[in-house]
Amino acid sequence: METSPLAQRLATRFVAGDTLAQALGVAHRIRSEGIAITLDHLGESVASLEEAAQARDVYLHALSALHDSGLEGNVSLKLTQFGLDFSYDQCRANVEQLVRRAAGLNGFVRVDMESSAYTQRTIDLVTGLHARYGAVGAVIQACLYRSRNDIEELSRRAIRVRLCKGAYLEPASVAFPRKSDVDRNFVDLMKLLLRHGAYPAIATHDENIVRQAEAYAAEHHIRRDAFEFQMLYGIRRDLQRRLASEGYRLRLYVPFGKAWYPYYMRRLAERPANVFFIARNLFRQ
Ligand SMILES: Cc1cc2nc3c(=O)[nH]c(=O)nc-3n(C[C@H](O)[C@H](O)[C@H](O)COP(=O)(O)OP(=O)(O)OC[C@H]3O[C@@H](n4cnc5c(N)ncnc54)[C@H](O)[C@@H]3O)c2cc1C
Repeated sequence: METSPLAQRLATRFVAGDTLAQALGVAHRIRSEGIAITLDHLGESVASLEEAAQARDVYLHALSALHDSGLEGNVSLKLTQFGLDFSYDQCRANVEQLVRRAAGLNGFVRVDMESSAYTQRTIDLVTGLHARYGAVGAVIQACLYRSRNDIEELSRRAIRVRLCKGAYLEPASVAFPRKSDVDRNFVDLMKLLLRHGAYPAIATHDENIVRQAEAYAAEHHIRRDAFEFQMLYGIRRDLQRRLASEGYRLRLYVPFGKAWYPYYMRRLAERPANVFFIARNLFRQ
């Protein structure tokens, strides 16, 4: 699939392209619509520390290229791609290089959150690097019971948090099994972040929650530039356009790279309507 030209064309709905140059093109187009981006180089769970070092180099290059082309140097990465399954210290050293570079360019590194097996190590790593460089932030998942404590701790240290629902299948011992509980917790944590967080990011396509965020911010006189919404490239473009046109800050998570297939399949699986969208385009070919 990853090398088929037809499949590649279909994937462009959710993935900016195979190459950094394509991703920069998409980023400039989005920027012209008044929307910011964070670049993600696709690929998780590398097979060796050599591969982790290669991933780090791609990110170092991407940060500089964003900056050189007049865009904000903002990237999102996964620690397993930076070698966490092999060595915490080596992984930390890889991320440190990137955060140091980002700090020098006035940019920012967001460390995505993976499954609960990684939560504590991810928070430790982000907290340590933030104390030294700033320029790095965390992601907290509303599905986990521990998240309120994590948000309080991160906010106390003025570490930026992106709040999302959580994309991993977790056991009931650590996460709310029912989606309605996850949604309710998301709203509670979102309000906490809007009140006490350091420039929080509300990452969801859930229009009901987005409206609650808008209402809460208005009610509590929280300025529209004190937080941002975040969404995935290609998802709920109608909602994206509305928020941008109404003066809200919006950042799109823009993935690129050759290893797009697992990411693409996750986006399809989340919503059956996407499969119809793809099928319709297939028949148009
Ligand atoms: C910017 C960003 C960064 C993220 N980072 C992480 C991370 O670091 N770790 C992590 O675990 N998860 C991350 N996620 C994923 C997140 O946890 C959810 O799995 C994902 O966003 C779907 O949840 P939702 O909030 O959109 O709500 P849902 O309740 O899943 O969806 C609400 C509505 O959004 C729309 N929608 C949702 N998904 C799709 C789709 N694929 N196609 C079309 N419409 C859709 C539909 O209208 C749906 O009814 C991130 C999400 C975003 C937006």
